[in-house]
Amino acid sequence: MPQKVILRAAGARASVLALDLGATTIKGALVHRGALVAHERVATPGLEGASAVLDAAVRCLERLRVRAERTRICVDAIGIASCGMIDPVEGVVVDSTETMRGWRGTRLRAEVERRMGLRVAVENDGRAAALAEARLGAGAQGAKICVMLTLGTGVGGGVAINGTVISGAGSLAGALGHLDVSGAISGRAPRCACGRRGCLEAYLSAFACRRDLRAEPKEVFAAARRGVAAESAWVQRGATALGAACAHIAHVLNPDVIAIGGGIAAGWPQLSPTAAAAFHKNALPRTVATTRLVRSRLGADASLLGAALCATPWRGGPTSARSRP
Ligand SMILES: [Zn+2]
Repeated sequence: MPQKVILRAAGARASVLALDLGATTIKGALVHRGALVAHERVATPGLEGASAVLDAAVRCLERLRVRAERTRICVDAIGIASCGMIDPVEGVVVDSTETMRGWRGTRLRAEVERRMGLRVAVENDGRAAALAEARLGAGAQGAKICVMLTLGTGVGGGVAINGTVISGAGSLAGALGHLDVSGAISGRAPRCACGRRGCLEAYLSAFACRRDLRAEPKEVFAAARRGVAAESAWVQRGATALGAACAHIAHVLNPDVIAIGGGIAAGWPQLSPTAAAAFHKNALPRTVATTRLVRSRLGADASLLGAALCATPWRGGPTSARSRP
């Protein structure tokens, strides 16, 4: 992936530190002149409380800053794509699951700004990935509306309109994992982490995979390729759920493109025929003809690139993160 070229094309000129703060791993990168020039990674102490997570995040950022200084790169800002429900304007974690104990209420931007002495922009990881996908990936060729679905432990996502990701009235825009797709699938709807039944996340996520088959998605997709019945059925049901969710998205937004990312998107060749068929069956013909379903082009770095974009002034307009003097 020629990231230097694509980030430059998006107008990225500043040097920034980018963090993808997930429930299991914190990934960081130094972004200089549009290229990811150094990487760091630390484990997320998600069950040890917010201050332990902040310590780990700052440790990762400090290591990157030391590496920047060694090569005489002056860092201008920090961008953080974090798990949990994030208010990008206030820079606060509005809500979070139990995988990140005490994360709710954390003043993420203020704390990192205080400890690092640099301007910080924060965004939800799914929305950051959508921002990157819209500007640098599947939406980069003139898509006005680009929707991203990230199929990971849970299912997140984001909606980007004209290269700007929307966060919504309560910072919840892009919670696409909780679209109810049970109407497209026979049998009793499985329960979701949110407490309701029939959400996309309850059918097609690493969480659902572990619960249903006591295995990781990678193993399940491999078994399905060998034709093992239970695994094949799980993949096909998940693909149907995905296609039905895309139909809901298309009916609301009729986006140019819906990009499928996250770890489970590695199984896209197996998912895509059934997902496309379910999309076709559940969506109005005009939306099927105009909304494309594609695999994410940025892969595992989408949130990290999105974090870098959040911290970088953009000639196309502001990101959802407030740019402060
Ligand atoms: Zn749900």
